[in-house]
Parts: sequence; C-alpha cells; structure tokens
Amino acid sequence: MRVKFWGTRGSVPTPGRATEKFGGNTACVEVLAEGHRLILDAGTGIRELGLVLTEEGPSASVLLFSHLHWDHIQGLPFFTPLFLEGFQVTIYAPTQLRSPLEKVLNKQMATEVFPVDFADLSADIRFETLAEGGITSGPFDITALVQEHPGGSWGYRVSAGGRVLYYSTDNETDPEASDPARARQVDAYRGANLLVVDGQYRASEYPARRGWGHGVMEHIQLLAAEAGVDRVAITHHDPMRDDDDLLELERSIRKAVPELPLFFARDGMAVEV
Ligand SMILES: [Zn+2]
Ligand SMILES: [Zn+2]
Repeated sequence: MRVKFWGTRGSVPTPGRATEKFGGNTACVEVLAEGHRLILDAGTGIRELGLVLTEEGPSASVLLFSHLHWDHIQGLPFFTPLFLEGFQVTIYAPTQLRSPLEKVLNKQMATEVFPVDFADLSADIRFETLAEGGITSGPFDITALVQEHPGGSWGYRVSAGGRVLYYSTDNETDPEASDPARARQVDAYRGANLLVVDGQYRASEYPARRGWGHGVMEHIQLLAAEAGVDRVAITHHDPMRDDDDLLELERSIRKAVPELPLFFARDGMAVEV
C-alpha cells in the first residue's frame, strides 16, 4: 500500500508561511494498492488530489468519511473529478452515518451557500453502506470501528496485500481511561503496520480539552507500542501550532519511546506500508 497525506491539519485550514513545512490543509489521506484508490476524508487536502486525478483522466475512487465535521468534508465541493463525466466515486458509510452523510453533503452545496448543487455533479457518484463486519473493495478489506468523539466518528482498519493501515482520526484517547477502555484501544491498534492517528493534544493540554474528542500524543504512543504497531503517523495537527512547534514536539515525543518509529504527517508526504 502507498499512503499519501493530502491534508494533516485539524479543525480549520491554516495557510501561511508559519505552517508551510507541515501544510495547512484539513484531513485527507489517499491509499493506493494494486491500481485501486481509497480516499479517507475530504478536508481541503482533497482539492489538490482532485487536480492530480483530473490531469490523469477518468478513474474510480472509493471515499470514506471518519465523520462529518467541517474539517473532514469541506474540500469535497472543490474535488474536480466530481464535476466530470467518466469519473466514478463510491462513498461507503457505516449504517449510522449513511443517511446523515447524504443529507450533509447536499446541504454543504445548497444554493444559498454554493453555486453548484450536489445533484448536478456529472461524475458517477454512488452511496453504499459499509456493512457491519466490513466490506471488500478491490484489494481493500475495510472495517469500521466506532470511536469517541462529539457526535460520533469511525476509525477504519484497511488491509491490502497482507499489510494493515489503521486510520483513526477524531478519537478521544483519555490517558486516565479505565483498563477495559485502554485494552479495547490497544486491541484496535494491534497488528497495524501503519497507524495514522489524531494526536492533536499534548498530555499537559488535555485536562482543559477533555471531551473535545481528540487524541493525546504521548498516550497514543504508549498504546501503539503496547499494541506492537510498526509505525505511527501523528496527524490532525492543532491549528494553533506552527512548523517550529510541530518540529520541536516531534523531536521530543520520539525520545520518549525511541524503539517505536513515529513521525508527524505533513501535507504532500507519501509512505509505503
Ligand atoms: Zn477533525
Ligand atoms: Zn471532529
């Protein structure tokens, strides 16, 4: 699998010189395997992916949403393949998300707020239900897991060719969680070759942000090490942090568990899994 980060910022885009190294686009990750494409979330990062796909000509993509907060959907109206005949986009959603998803994507492009209606898009767009227990799409086996987030969110375990990517954004990981909750999280991470995970907060920031639905980087690092994860990519960076803050944090966090390869994802970065 090849994983490319198109948007790694949480909550709101952060353009400007102070964030040019990590980038300012909101959540979007592309996964390629055996010529098939999976897209995880449609934050503003999906716009640039769309430009590349448009240049390459008609293709098919599968799109999954962790949830429907703005930073995970707001790039979709600017995803050019949706406007073009010949492109196919299949949107899978867990049962609970399916009907709100169609409604929210339509509302996001309502006449009052956007010049083109969702119904007028020219691509072949299909909505499918991601069955309990998971689905197979091309080389991808995909399972959705319920997470802790205001309004709900889903993590996705994606396997292809014997490799495992676990995408877990907008999931609150409380360092003081009870043992069963902790064990559940470790079990969910277990066996992942790459864990792409929301680590928006530091442990010292968490008490003031309890209940906001995001991960604590130091805590995730411990859980991932316990679960035997091969490599961790921290994403959903706090919009209050600039490049210097993130570089410094990446350096100091790595030192805490040096045997666990960990990096902070950057817009435009690609890794083999
Ligand atoms: Zn988010
Ligand atoms: Zn959210």
